[in-house]
Amino acid sequence: MDNTVTLSDFHLTMQVMDNIDAGVVILDRNYTVLAWNTFMQAYSGISVERIMGKNLFDVIDNLPEEWLKNKISSTFKLRTRSFSSWEDRSCIFNFINFSPITGGESMMYQNMTLTPLKSLNGDYSHICLTLTDVSDIAKSKMHLRESNEQLTHLSMTDRLTQLFNRGHWEACLAEEFERCRQTQLPSTLVMFDIDHFKKVNDTFGHIAGDGVIKNISNILRRTKRQSDIAGRYGGEEFGVILPATSAELALYFTERLRTRVEESSVVTDLRNISVTISLGVCEWAPSFRSYEQWLECADHSLYQSKQQGRNQSNVYQRVSSGSEQPASA
Ligand code: GH3
Ligand code: MG
Ligand code: MG
Repeated sequence: MDNTVTLSDFHLTMQVMDNIDAGVVILDRNYTVLAWNTFMQAYSGISVERIMGKNLFDVIDNLPEEWLKNKISSTFKLRTRSFSSWEDRSCIFNFINFSPITGGESMMYQNMTLTPLKSLNGDYSHICLTLTDVSDIAKSKMHLRESNEQLTHLSMTDRLTQLFNRGHWEACLAEEFERCRQTQLPSTLVMFDIDHFKKVNDTFGHIAGDGVIKNISNILRRTKRQSDIAGRYGGEEFGVILPATSAELALYFTERLRTRVEESSVVTDLRNISVTISLGVCEWAPSFRSYEQWLECADHSLYQSKQQGRNQSNVYQRVSSGSEQPASA
């Protein structure tokens, strides 16, 4: 082959390499740099003169050395291209990306491809590292992920109390019911309601009433265990699922909650508002046919607490085995 043509080819190839919008680095098996294109110079601030013929890891700080060496080694071994996505490792070279849209600076998210290169004698003696700037894609994907998480959170959260809303809480109850049925290990359901709440609204106004609901929700959050599932069932009625807990143990929780609510108050311009709550406790039983029946029985005990003078907890008493019906009060 004519040498002049080869040199001209090389010159053309170098022009292409320097003008593509990606980083191109060629290394030998000892990580010696044999090509370092304009993209790499621009973002690293390291000139071609400074790095050519040097060990990549001696010149560039902060590279994930062990990880990159392993990747290069397996590319040589397998003799196939390998790839690294920003989702696995966001930033290989510590480059800054300047966004013309926001005008701000941030780290450059990168995808990397390693291609083994065959020399004229047929040996795989070099490797080509190609680096692409995927910051825009990464940022919009992360933004989308964040928005989806926020939407999911909003769709299951009650706005006033930040507890689960009725829809999500009931779905949790249905799930817990199935879990009890499969494992035969009972959980306990607690329903509670604020006593004479209408009077609070009538005396102090709706906004003060909202303050009372929020205060009780905060006490509930502080009193329950991490694994207990609390929701706002209706206006001033709440539900709590206590997984893997007997009714007897649940009573410790309800009494602690009841006392804390009784002892707390909400400060308003007019007066401090103190309220009490009535609670119904119901342990899952094998005879329950649906979660709705479980809910009905807990509600029945709550009704009993109201009937017997309010500000108390009552445990659901099974009527007779196999016929789980809320007994008429
Ligand atoms: P009981 O002891 O029998 O439960 O009496 P109660 O007055 O609490 O019960 P009732 O069901 O008659 O009244 C509940 C009141 O709760 C009526 C309703 O206006 C009020 N309420 C429901 N949701 C909200 C809310 O989000 N904010 C406020 N401020 N009030 C609410
Ligand atoms: Mg009430
Ligand atoms: Mg009510």
